[in-house]
Amino acid sequence: MTDALVMGQRPGLFDRLAQQPADALLAIIGLVNADPREDKIDLGVGVYKDAAGNTPILRAVKAAEKILLDTQETKTYLGSEGDVRFVALMKEMAFGAARARDERIVGLQTPGGCGALRLGAELIKATGSDARIFVGQPTWPNHVPLIGSVGLPFVDYPYYDKAAKAVTFDRMMDALEDAKAGDVVLLHGCCHNPTGADLSLDQWKAIAALVSERGLVPFIDFAYQGLGHGLEADAEGARLVVDAAEQALVAHSNDKNFGLYRERTGSLFVKGADAEQAKVIASNLTVMARTSWSMPPDHGAAIVRVVLDTPELAADWHAELKEMCARIRSLRSRIAASDPRLAYVEEQNGMFSMLPLSAEAITDLRTTESIYLAGSGRFNVAGLSDHNVDRFAAAVAKRL
Ligand code: PMP
Repeated sequence: MTDALVMGQRPGLFDRLAQQPADALLAIIGLVNADPREDKIDLGVGVYKDAAGNTPILRAVKAAEKILLDTQETKTYLGSEGDVRFVALMKEMAFGAARARDERIVGLQTPGGCGALRLGAELIKATGSDARIFVGQPTWPNHVPLIGSVGLPFVDYPYYDKAAKAVTFDRMMDALEDAKAGDVVLLHGCCHNPTGADLSLDQWKAIAALVSERGLVPFIDFAYQGLGHGLEADAEGARLVVDAAEQALVAHSNDKNFGLYRERTGSLFVKGADAEQAKVIASNLTVMARTSWSMPPDHGAAIVRVVLDTPELAADWHAELKEMCARIRSLRSRIAASDPRLAYVEEQNGMFSMLPLSAEAITDLRTTESIYLAGSGRFNVAGLSDHNVDRFAAAVAKRL
């Protein structure tokens, strides 16, 4: 028998793999690229864009890269925790100076917010408990696949009513009544993706009370700190809930607030019941990181560290972050002012809002108006600019 025949008969390792669907959001990039119309508006993928439609490297980031280029002397391994100084800086950014000294909270650097979510999920799985993950609907489409990939079960809670354009807080609290001690509640720290609709401080307080009463474990996805109302204001709710909880997880990302996207810059923080337990948690996280990516990529974290440890660069970064926020706020105000039915957009935070449009209207926006948004109605506010925001608002209003 020839080799070719034997190969044809023998089952191959990969023969049983099924074709996977393309990521719906990334598919929009292809549609936008294929559209030759010059006035097309791309509101699909969630990256910040400036008024000219570019996603530039921040000034402070460029300056830090120059410093690294000139002064970095080695690329030797750092260890599974990543850049320890970076982690300390992020602990302070996420939790504030006082909690940064709290030994019950341990952290390590991860490949972006995604790496932090994944590692957090693995930690929960490793406990061997029957914890369920309560997840708001709608949520970021990658949450369930990413956290679910380790085999954790989910329970939905209603978060936002697209038609009513509001958080369904009472229904959310009703659904969380079913959570038992040790169950995990996934929450967005700020700038909810995909809706832009955040909890009010009073609502965060109610969740903090519930978490503490019931012994629930908040898992806070904190991917947009600083892009809502500033670094401190955006952290208020998350800090309240972490304070109230005996045990908690926070997945933090700098990919948005430093514009580092592809550099994969994030960190995971976990609060244990006491400092001793926190040490055990840290040792587990280190082993889990070691057995998955071994060590996180360095460059993004090194940039963030250099920026924050260099006073002039830190000041410039704060100014740039404020500029991003101000641009998003001004676009939100213009959309809100264009039609009373869009007034809600002004009250929301971060890069995203969700339009109460039908699937047909979203397709029609693409084909007739060259306006591209996600099938859910989510649009990236920062994808608009002063010269096309009115055309966008008018096109949407016609289809509401
Ligand atoms: N959580 C949410 C809600 C996000 O929108 C994103 C990024 N789109 C992430 C986490 C992951 O961020 P990163 O790029 O840092 O992995």
